[in-house]
Amino acid sequence: MAFKSLDDLLAEGVDGRHVLVRSDFNVPLDDDGNITDPGRINASLPTIEALVEGGAKVILSAHLGRPKGEVNEKYSLAPVAEALSEALGQFVALAGDVTGEDAHERANGLSEGDVMLIENVRFDPRETSKDEAERAEFAAELAALAADDGAFVSDGFGVVHRAQASVYDVAKLLPAYAGKLVQSELEVLSTVAQNPEHPYVVVLGGAKVSDKLGVIEALADKADKVIIGGGMCYTMLAAQGYNVQKSLLQEDQLDDCKSLLERFGDKLVLPVDLVAASEFAADADNKVVELDGIPEGWMSLDIGPKSVEAFAEVLASSKTVFWNGPMGVFEMEAFAQGTAGVAQAIIDATANNGSFTVVGGGDSAASVRTLGLDEAGFSHISTGGGASLEFLEGKTLPGVEVLES
Ligand code: ADP
Ligand code: MG
Repeated sequence: MAFKSLDDLLAEGVDGRHVLVRSDFNVPLDDDGNITDPGRINASLPTIEALVEGGAKVILSAHLGRPKGEVNEKYSLAPVAEALSEALGQFVALAGDVTGEDAHERANGLSEGDVMLIENVRFDPRETSKDEAERAEFAAELAALAADDGAFVSDGFGVVHRAQASVYDVAKLLPAYAGKLVQSELEVLSTVAQNPEHPYVVVLGGAKVSDKLGVIEALADKADKVIIGGGMCYTMLAAQGYNVQKSLLQEDQLDDCKSLLERFGDKLVLPVDLVAASEFAADADNKVVELDGIPEGWMSLDIGPKSVEAFAEVLASSKTVFWNGPMGVFEMEAFAQGTAGVAQAIIDATANNGSFTVVGGGDSAASVRTLGLDEAGFSHISTGGGASLEFLEGKTLPGVEVLES
């Protein structure tokens, strides 16, 4: 990968220079605005600490949630500023705007080793605009925060697959470098993408099939087995003729699922039993059922114990595993067993079979921590879901490509 890294920037010297960093602080919040999983904040610290150490004036930018181009207090980065202050052991001021007067004043007022955060870049509609000129205009405002001798460090791995102003366009306006997180993620994922040791098992779950059909297709070629659970498996099961009742179903994807089953049938591993629920609720009635046994009007919210066993058997002999997407609605205790069981099977494969195991995806990574599993039990936990999937599919990541030019 031919791009400049943070080490190159540090070697050039950052003392007294403004360095704009795009980080990934898109952390999950509870209803009271508390951060429920700080994984992404922790993953961003090495780059920030190295810049502080070097005497840079650090300006952090990031998005949180989907404020859709409008200022919305609910998506303020205030909880992130607080968590960062604590983690870094130094005050991280949050600007009252994104690229407005307050952000500029604060950026101008930084001393060597200071760190500030601008507000959620998605408060500005130009951040994600399809119109290149609009994005360029916003990127110019971001770059201006870093003044004349500034630099840009791209460290938000979770967003490098997006051609957005703070990720992509701004990298054309300032000397640009890959941060430590982006660099280490790409190193690990390159191993899986280019040289996976076989058997290579891909485990896919999560919410939407349409997002991941392309992934199944691209990875089924390279992998020996593709295990499918989570909300995405019901369209597959429906394509096999099962009545999935009120489970997540994407009717418009049925034909594509059928053709995937025809082409890759022997590689695809689907659940053999399910946990059905009377409604989408933590306290819903629930029971383990066969594939054709979802009671009328119920829905499946998890894979069953026999499925966990079957999946675990495939995983036990793996030498490489990539897992994206929970097996069920793990946020509710009654439907967390499938995800916990599969995660444990991946941890076991790592320990007992020397399998190289990678977890990608915001919710998947969060599930490992919230279910109390040992993060260190996996070879690597990626901070980027979409980005890691697209990389493994062999797509180019705009936010990385722009660093290479
Ligand atoms: P990731 O962030 O790891 O890429 P996704 O965002 O694709 O994963 O999907 C995560 C979500 O999928 C979780 O919030 C989980 O509750 C949901 N999910 C998993 N299984 C089901 C199911 N059977 N029905 C509804 N939602 C599900
Ligand atoms: Mg997600």
